[in-house]
Amino acid sequence: MIPVEPDELTSWREEALCRDLTEVDFFPTPEDTVAINQAKEVCASCPVARACLEYAIETRQFEGIWGGHTPKERVKLRRLWQEEIRRAS
Ligand code: SF4
Repeated sequence: MIPVEPDELTSWREEALCRDLTEVDFFPTPEDTVAINQAKEVCASCPVARACLEYAIETRQFEGIWGGHTPKERVKLRRLWQEEIRRAS
């Protein structure tokens, strides 16, 4: 595995739609479906959503909306990706 510099892992943040957005909460409580949906709506138009999602899964971010996914959704996705990798090897 080629070592990845931290800058490479997070350079996508420069294009993040949420970067200067203060009126949307990207770390809502799990019960706050209104805030969750608002954050997901922003993520749906974000050009770096895939990189954001992969970063959150790889670094195990346990809170917040990343790449349009809640923490629970990311846990499920991580399992699916791991299964795909196992099947492919
Ligand atoms: S996908 Fe969502 S949380 Fe990730 S950078 Fe884009 S707007 Fe921000």
